[in-house]
Amino acid sequence: MTAAAADSGDARVSSEACAVVGGGPAGLFAAETLLAGGRPVRLYDAMPSCGRKLLVAGNAGGLNITNAAPIDAFASRYGEAAPLFSGLLRDFSPDDLKTWLAGFGASCRTGSGGKVFPDGIGVRDLLDAWFARLSANPAFSFFPGHRFASLSRDGALGFETARGLVSARPAATVFALGGASWPATGSNGAWRESFASAGVAVAPFKPANCGYEADWDSYLAGRFTHVPLKNVAVRVGRESPVGNGPIEYGPILGEIMLTPYGVEGGPIYALGRAIRAAIEGSLSCELLVDLLPDRDAEWILARLTGAVSKDSLSNLYRKRLGLSSEAFALLRHADPEGHSLRDPMAASSLVKRVPIRLMRARPIAEAISSAGGISFDELDESLMLRRYPGIFCAGEMLDWEAPTGGFLLQGCFSTARRAANGVLEWLASRRI
Ligand SMILES: Cc1cc2nc3c(=O)[nH]c(=O)nc-3n(C[C@H](O)[C@H](O)[C@H](O)COP(=O)(O)OP(=O)(O)OC[C@H]3O[C@@H](n4cnc5c(N)ncnc54)[C@H](O)[C@@H]3O)c2cc1C
Repeated sequence: MTAAAADSGDARVSSEACAVVGGGPAGLFAAETLLAGGRPVRLYDAMPSCGRKLLVAGNAGGLNITNAAPIDAFASRYGEAAPLFSGLLRDFSPDDLKTWLAGFGASCRTGSGGKVFPDGIGVRDLLDAWFARLSANPAFSFFPGHRFASLSRDGALGFETARGLVSARPAATVFALGGASWPATGSNGAWRESFASAGVAVAPFKPANCGYEADWDSYLAGRFTHVPLKNVAVRVGRESPVGNGPIEYGPILGEIMLTPYGVEGGPIYALGRAIRAAIEGSLSCELLVDLLPDRDAEWILARLTGAVSKDSLSNLYRKRLGLSSEAFALLRHADPEGHSLRDPMAASSLVKRVPIRLMRARPIAEAISSAGGISFDELDESLMLRRYPGIFCAGEMLDWEAPTGGFLLQGCFSTARRAANGVLEWLASRRI
């Protein structure tokens, strides 16, 4: 590496200009808020273009940008960070996000589970229009190929570029560097080292909203080629963290995907925190799947009692209970000898609670999001680093997590609004 060129060439920063580092949705929205507040913005990103993970998100089944849940229920999806998000969601609410989208000529449609999607605009067009709107402002400039590498005590930023090291000394900075999943999009979490060297506590990244590997045998691994198991209810049992014996999380209704390695899908993501905690506590986690959530055990017992069939057991379960061959394969895995499956009383319990043993999460590179990041203890209410006045953080790089359903992007927008407003207030209070 060459010596740092102090704020050289096109990286020069005027004394009033703010820096935004990271051009995902959180960074772009922070930049927009700062510009609206009358501040020049210099946006830096390691990649040649912005919003690469947003593009992936939009291409993976449509851009689920927020959710229609009422605010308190919405905030509860952020787990331990719910009280904080209750305030953040009032700063920039799901309705505010819909109004913002309308500024691009997009309406919204609400799907199952309250998921809200932009209607009438694709993610590529949305990103292009957004970036064009920012670029049309003469106070905005974008510096691609600038990889943030260091933060100095005085707030100076160091970037690795193709020209060598470049430094900048903005009036204030919003970092929005993302998490550590899907590293090919630029969000590789490598910034963690730079913050740790600057004395900022960063919780280790862990995969969130991800698949989990199960103890499938070779038959199931070959049989489950991403097959959906529709209309099931999923629970997780684990020891209480405060030693009150076993507790159960769920049930979460929905569709899970059976894959060669294990399971994934909405209900699994929604139970992700409990699954991870169970695996961390006891090296595996028992997932309990109710194959017939609309029927009780008595109904199953009645359907199986006295059933005489020359058919195979799998045909019996298909004809009497309407179970698919994949559902039956799960029952077989749980009861290889078939003792319970031949006993209507035992079978009626098993169908309501088929155990699947989960061993580990899939690699973080495959996960939709990551847990971990900058600890909220390091930040004040305005999301400014306590040890670094004038340096703010937003988006997935903070230590929060939420399930899929629009909660991730809403969290990025709401934290970005808080951080950028924090910058505006902080600069105003110092008459900068
Ligand atoms: C497959 C998939 C589907 C998804 N679907 C949805 C969905 O439907 N709904 C939803 O709410 N969320 C979804 N998400 C999650 C959502 O995309 C992310 O939560 C969101 O993009 C995070 O925004 P961010 O701005 O915090 O970070 P990112 O979007 O990750 O952006 C971070 C930026 O920082 C840059 N950067 C990183 N390190 C450096 C560095 N050292 N120097 C300079 N720049 C750097 C990166 O290049 C990147 O541009 C999905 C994610 C994936 C992978």
